[in-house]
Amino acid sequence: MRTSNTPRSRFLKVKCMDCGNEQVMFGSAKTAVKCVICGKTIATPKGGKAQIKTRIESVLG
Ligand SMILES: [Zn+2]
Repeated sequence: MRTSNTPRSRFLKVKCMDCGNEQVMFGSAKTAVKCVICGKTIATPKGGKAQIKTRIESVLG
């Protein structure tokens, strides 16, 4: 099954709700993503894509 070019395979700009840091992450991350500043978990993998736990500022295609 090819999943490399689905609409979900995008980079997302997310904002940490705790410290306000903005960072870019992959929309189909297979590992948990943490805020690089405060370490809060901002996304967890679920069913092959990232489940975002914080605010999505924008989708970067
Ligand atoms: Zn943070």
